[in-house]
Parts: sequence; structure tokens; C-alpha cells
Amino acid sequence: MKEKLKAISSACIKCDLCQKECAFLRKYGKPKDIADRYDPARKEDQGMPFECSLCGLCTAVCPKGLDPAGLFLAMRQETVIRGGGDYSEHAVLKGYERRGTSRAYSYYGLPEGCDTVFFPGCTLSGTRSEKVILAYRHLREKIPSLGIVLDCCTKPSHDLGRTDHFTAMFEEMRGYLVVHGVKSVIVACPNCYKIFARYGTGLSTTSIYEILAESAGNGTGKITSTVTVHDPCAVRFKEAIHTSVRKLIRGEGCAIEEMPHTGKQTLCCGEGGAVGFLTPDFAGSWGRLRQEEATGRKIVTYCAGCAGKLAKLGPTAHVLDLLWEGKEGATGSAKVAKPPFTYWKRLRLKKWFEKHVPAAVARERTFTGKEEQKKGGMVKFLLFLVFLAVVIATVKTTGAARYLEQQTLKTLIESTGVLAPIVYMLVYTIAPALFLPGLPITIAGGILFGPFWGVVYTIIASTTGACVAFLVSRYLAREWVEGQLKSPRWRRLDEGVEQHGWKVVAFTRLIPLFPFNLLNYAFGLTKIGFRQYAVTTFVCMLPACIAFIVFSSSLLDLIRGKVSSAFVAGLLLVVLVSLFPLIYRRYKAKRRGDDPEILS
Ligand code: SF4
Ligand code: SF4
Ligand code: SF4
Repeated sequence: MKEKLKAISSACIKCDLCQKECAFLRKYGKPKDIADRYDPARKEDQGMPFECSLCGLCTAVCPKGLDPAGLFLAMRQETVIRGGGDYSEHAVLKGYERRGTSRAYSYYGLPEGCDTVFFPGCTLSGTRSEKVILAYRHLREKIPSLGIVLDCCTKPSHDLGRTDHFTAMFEEMRGYLVVHGVKSVIVACPNCYKIFARYGTGLSTTSIYEILAESAGNGTGKITSTVTVHDPCAVRFKEAIHTSVRKLIRGEGCAIEEMPHTGKQTLCCGEGGAVGFLTPDFAGSWGRLRQEEATGRKIVTYCAGCAGKLAKLGPTAHVLDLLWEGKEGATGSAKVAKPPFTYWKRLRLKKWFEKHVPAAVARERTFTGKEEQKKGGMVKFLLFLVFLAVVIATVKTTGAARYLEQQTLKTLIESTGVLAPIVYMLVYTIAPALFLPGLPITIAGGILFGPFWGVVYTIIASTTGACVAFLVSRYLAREWVEGQLKSPRWRRLDEGVEQHGWKVVAFTRLIPLFPFNLLNYAFGLTKIGFRQYAVTTFVCMLPACIAFIVFSSSLLDLIRGKVSSAFVAGLLLVVLVSLFPLIYRRYKAKRRGDDPEILS
């Protein structure tokens, strides 16, 4: 780290070439300025490198041969060493990696005499599992003892600066392969290429596109369309791969018109460094640049992650779509699975390999580093359904249904006078400040007080609770709250409030981009006025409050085995409220830039 800082600090001539290309550097300054003022103990400096895409364009354009991208990765690692960088926004990505390395999704099949394995990577396996099979078959014609490894290279952890976890996981995989006589890995994902090429000691790394290009047509046939090529930034310095992919594309009868940023100077697609989770506007700016340079031409790329990202902005195909789906691939209508079906596709792919690879040595991966394997969301959902079914069956068979009559409950609650509502509202008022989840309390409110009084008590109490946390943060525990809000995203909330005031409160209440309890505290640190905050919170929490109370007020019917019209109405309202984020994102995609960037 010290050497990296010193190298940039002493040799950077502040020429502007890297800054001209990059929104992150335009915000934070030239690499020398960043290196000179960097203090790893300062909160801002700990979060800052997580806004860099690690795309390496600065490294590619630097006339002094410096590596600012390497410095920003080292800064991420330093943040993690100091106990930071564990942002809740990255949970999705970590979960994706965890599933990739899990026993359920991983598979190693090494035939007798196997010294080469195919490593397709998680994203290609999920989105284009049929093409992974075709690729494997094609390779096996040349390498009869070819093995298969379905696993994750753990690049997400690498890029998040989680060096200990990355090293433990990758080393275990590398060690297993080397011990079993594997000498060569053929990869299909440029990110996996980067990881294996850099850390895969004892293994040689080859891109499948180089192998496929050996037998590609010569491209002298009839030209059927004109495309442009996006080189993934992970392999920006690998000219042999760039050339091979172009050979494959021309071999399919396509003419290529290059974009201004190509090859070594390619742009990030917006996925790099997991920046989109924390700073969507930086990530989005890369994607928009790419879209502008493509000027409507179809983009062909060779990273499934880039293909997915760019397809949201314009016509995009993976080179394997072009190769193996002919016309559909060329026109952009190739078969591409989308989450959550990608996980099902990966499980099926695993089954296929288990059946078709004559493995002498096989395993599913059980090594998890020091991390616990968490139960997936789907498993939890299924467990919940089973639990609900058991409750309904028990209530029906034991005759307990008569005690769950709405009227009986109403009479019971009324007999307590004002006590029940007061206790309920008190609990709800202190719950957000104590980080207790509001949903179970809301459901209880719907069941106990019915749709009308349930809404009245809940909206008053939940707004009061949000205000209590706000006031605690503003006047009593400022330092503690600041310590909890380390992610750059929270800083952007402050900037958003400064620019757009109450609108940010309104949006974040309607669209749950931030954890609710922490959000109340966070607003206490911003410049928003208390009255504005309280009124906006009350009004904008009302739709979700109505939906969940109406829904839960009919739960007793459901438990007694009756699907009432109130239940159907409540369910529809909950679905509608849950769709707000999706509707908003669609709307935002159409009217990009009109709203606070914090909500991107
Ligand atoms: S790696 Fe990419 S995002 Fe990071 S500073 Fe360099 S050019 Fe900018
Ligand atoms: S391109 Fe190189 S020398 Fe120029 S400002 Fe960037 S890091 Fe410094
Ligand atoms: S780099 Fe490849 S294997 Fe690693 S997470 Fe991404 S797609 Fe999966």
C-alpha cells in the first residue's frame, strides 16, 4: 500500500489524461492529489475507493505507466483490514458468490488423465447454459479428457477487498486442481480469466475464444450485418483475446465498426467494482458512454455480465449467441435466461455434467472459508409456506378456529379499553429506535384492531417512532449514528437532501432503497427540517401501511382456511406497493436524470 501511494505521489504529473476519462476521478481529483491526502483512518477515504469501478482505463492511458486502478483496489483492501467496507448494499453480490461456491451449485468432474478443465463461470452458466454445453462438447473434440469445474472464481470478494476470504477460497480451488493433475484452465468469462491468470500459480489460463478462433471461418463470406465490439475491461490488455473474438465475429459474416474506446482503452460497462450498488450514477455514466459510442449499432461482447448490463441500454449479444444461435443471435433474440431462472438453469447444467462427464474424480465444494453458508431466501420462503400450512391444518383439525373469530377478538380487545391501543402504539414508537422490525408489529396491528383502527394506530405510531429515531440522531447520538453510516451511499443521501429536500424523504419512504430503521437515524444527520420530515414521512408511509394492515386484518380468515375478499384485496395492495420500486426504475430509465441521483 505504502509503495503504491509513493509511486503515484512521486511520479504522477497530473496530466489530466485519466481524469478526462473518468467521472470518479473528476469527483475526487487526480491520482496524485488523492494519494497525497489519503488517510486510511478517515471515514471518507475508507468509502471513496468503493466508488471506483476498478476498470483500469486510468492505467491504460497513463503516459507514466502508473496504475491508479491498482492503488484503488489496495485502498479497498486497507479499508477492509481496518474493519470497514462491509456495506449492506453488497449483500446481494456476496450472496451470488456464496451460491456459486456452494455445494448445491458447484461441481468438479475430472475424467481419467484429465489435465485441462473448462471453467465457464457463474454468469454464463446461468444465462446461457445450453451454450456452455455446446462449448464443452466443442472443446472435448480437441481435448478428450477435458474436465469441468462449475464454481465461482470469487472475483466479487477480490474486488470488494475481502482478501482473506478470496485467498482462502481461490487457493482451496487451485490446490484441489493442481493436486489432481490439472495444469490448464480454459475460461469463458473475462473476469475469471483475470483471476486465474493472476493468481492461478501452477495453472495456465486460456480463453475459450482463442481456441474457438483457431477453427473460425475466414470471414470472407457474405456480410449479413454490421456490429461493434465491446471488450470487457477485465481483459483490456489481452490483445490476443481481442483479435480472436473479432475473428469469430467476422467468421460469422459480420462487419465490425470499432467504437472510439476499444481494445486496451475499452470502457467499463458499468458493472465493474460493484460500484452500481453504492454509486449508481457513476456506474450508469459508464453504461451511457458505451451506449453513445455504439450509436445504435448492435454491440457484441464476450462477457455474460457485460452483455446483461449493456442489453438494458441497447441491442447487445454475446459472441456465443452469434456463433451458436445464428440468425437469432445476430438479431439479438437469442435465448438468454434471466434471474431467478438462471439458478434453475445452473442446477440443470450441473445435472447434465454429472451425467455426461465420465468423471474419475468428482466433488461438490464444501469448503466455505470462514463464512457460514446462509440459507437462501427461497428456502426461507418455502419454510414459511410449510409453517403456514401446518398452522392452518392444526387450527382446522383441533377446532381452535372458533377462538380466532374476528368478533371474539374484537370483544376481547374492546374489554381492555384504551390499554390495548396504547400498549400497541408504545411498542411501535420505540421499535424503530431499537432496530426492531416493524412488519410483525404491523401485522399484529391489523389482526388486533382491524383495517380502520389498525391503520390509524399504526400510521401514528410508526411516524412517531421514525421521529424519535430522527431526534435521537440529531440531538443525542450524532457520533454513534455517523459511525453506523459508513457507506458512500449514505453520504449521497445527505447530498440528495441538500439538493432536493423533502423529495428525498418522500422517495425513500415510497421506495425502500435503504433499511427503514437506519434511514430514520440517517435523516437526523441531514439538513432537513423536522416538521418537513415528519409530515412527508406520515403521508408517504400511508400507502404501505394501508396495504399491510388490510392484508393482515384478514389473516385470521386465512388461518381458519377461508380466503376472504378482504384477503384478496389486501394481497393485491401489498403486491402493488411492492411494485413501486420496479415501476419507479422503469420510469427513471425513460426519464433519466430528472430525479435525485440518490434514487438511481
Ligand atoms: S479504475 Fe476506472 S473508475 Fe477507477 S479511477 Fe481508473 S478509470 Fe476511473
Ligand atoms: S494519467 Fe497518469 S500521470 Fe496523468 S494524471 Fe493520471 S495517473 Fe497522473
Ligand atoms: S468472475 Fe466469473 S466465476 Fe467469478 S463471479 Fe463473475 S462470472 Fe462468476
